[in-house]
Amino acid sequence: MTDRDFDTQDWQVRDRAHYLHPFTDHAGLRQTGSRIAAHAEGIHVWDTDGNRMIDGLSGLGCVNLGYGRRELVEAVAREMAELSYCPSFFRTSHRAAITLAETLTGLLPDHLNHVFFQSSGSEANETAMRLVRRFWDLEGRPEKRVIIARELAYHGSTHMAASLSGIPPMYGAGGDVPLPGVVHIRTPYRYRHGRDMDPAEFGVVAARWLEEKILEIGPDRVAAFVAEPAQSAGGAICPPETYWPEIQRICRKYDVLLVLDEVVMGFGRTGKWFGHRYYGIEPDLMQLGKGITSGYLPLSATVISDRVADVLIDKGGEWAHGYTYSGHPACCAVALENIRILTEERIVERAEAELVPAFAAGIRSFVDHPLIGDCRSVGLMGGLEIVRDKATGEAFPYEAHVGDHCSAEALKRGLALRANGDTMSLMPPLVTTPDQIAEIFAIAREAIDATARHFGAM
Ligand code: PMP
Repeated sequence: MTDRDFDTQDWQVRDRAHYLHPFTDHAGLRQTGSRIAAHAEGIHVWDTDGNRMIDGLSGLGCVNLGYGRRELVEAVAREMAELSYCPSFFRTSHRAAITLAETLTGLLPDHLNHVFFQSSGSEANETAMRLVRRFWDLEGRPEKRVIIARELAYHGSTHMAASLSGIPPMYGAGGDVPLPGVVHIRTPYRYRHGRDMDPAEFGVVAARWLEEKILEIGPDRVAAFVAEPAQSAGGAICPPETYWPEIQRICRKYDVLLVLDEVVMGFGRTGKWFGHRYYGIEPDLMQLGKGITSGYLPLSATVISDRVADVLIDKGGEWAHGYTYSGHPACCAVALENIRILTEERIVERAEAELVPAFAAGIRSFVDHPLIGDCRSVGLMGGLEIVRDKATGEAFPYEAHVGDHCSAEALKRGLALRANGDTMSLMPPLVTTPDQIAEIFAIAREAIDATARHFGAM
């Protein structure tokens, strides 16, 4: 018997018996069974029953180039045949990692010239936080230890990354998180924290929450502020234009390192190559992942400014941190090929010109929908927030699971979109066509209408 001789039910039984999934209620999963993905091409994924689904989420915000690009597969095969593994320990290096580090710094602002590799976004955040504390220790200011992050943030699932995340259910998942020395401030979520304010005014007010927290703790004790340019898993929270310049000013004023998690926003999500370019931010450290390989292999990068790297290199001696798979040759090779395609085919520039306006219009087309309280987007990331009462913004009770209901309605109709709480999120691949954007919004509307009927809103 080969794998192909099993039917969907066989796979579901075997899945249930042995495979624990991330962020999943397994008791619930036992009742429904998993969808078993079989193959994927472009923006479509087929399951073992032959059903086709549009991937409106780019996997998990990573498959920016779409599925099944032969050049990426071949780049991996070539590197695997040449150098299947190489540690970057023991004063050893290799061509793919060197070229990728150089290529990345060429894409980034002038003060970002050093790169450390890991396999995941979570690990990139771990590296960044260890670097922050190491930096202040070496600067002779070990009392600068407190890290400020934001509510609703998602930065990963390891101890420190989960601590940075502002999602309280994650703290109950084990491990005594948040770790000491991590605090959270409110996020620039205008719909919930400043609906009556002018966006520009709200952006400054929201940034000042950082200043208030720094002053409350004492600037001498604050090491860094960590944030995504726009919050993806938090529910597509897009800050007003005035937010980031004020954050930057505050970080400089109090000498607090600005650490930017570009794991999702990097590589084109905002319609610019990076979120810092879109918002005009100059970070001290930056985490990249996901779209760096379009999800074909696991890789993340922590990018380090000259200010931090010079201290680490000149004063630090051995930095006892790193991973077996730091700079894995095949992962670096596929990232290089991914960047080559993004560049030569002008994928980001074309997405910005040809897709972003249609995507923004598609999101805005829900403004008058009775179930949708807020419509927001940046680039090719958007959110439609479901509310019980459009006039007051009152949410449905948690137990109603209205977002999950809506994503199930979408899936029935062949579209993957995601419920982040009650916000329906979309992050289609950058290679989606304008016609496919229209198809995505047509299905999203059917799913939201069906949800509205089910919950008596229509
Ligand atoms: N940072 C952000 C902003 C993320 O969205 C994620 C994952 N969704 C991570 C970090 C963690 O990445 P990983 O799952 O690769 O550890």
